[in-house]
Amino acid sequence: MATLTQAQITHLSKLMDERYERERKEIATVTQRAREQLDEGVSADWVDAALTESTLASDDAVIKQDVADIRDILAARERLSAGVYGICTDCGEAIAYERLLAYPTAKRCIHCQRLHERDKAGREIPRGS
Ligand SMILES: [Zn+2]
Repeated sequence: MATLTQAQITHLSKLMDERYERERKEIATVTQRAREQLDEGVSADWVDAALTESTLASDDAVIKQDVADIRDILAARERLSAGVYGICTDCGEAIAYERLLAYPTAKRCIHCQRLHERDKAGREIPRGS
């Protein structure tokens, strides 16, 4: 099980909330439509709309990254409420608190993340290059 204390979880949760707000505002400043909806005080519904609105993310790399970050945060919140936050999704070991401080939405421990990135790189780099 998680080795995180309640205070650590509260702190990480706050970090994610702050980042979530930052991403949300950034998207809002880039897209008029999102800004209008933000002005109406729509938050959760608006994020759902942003995530399903493919045209929103299609052309803008910044928005794309913001939406990806928000997705990560929402996924991390789900793991929080499921009681599995801070547990590596690959090996089931606790993720180091220091790693979570740097990457509050991390879903793998550093060991599994390295394996994952090596696998990914191995697939993406053509052989013989
Ligand atoms: Zn792991």
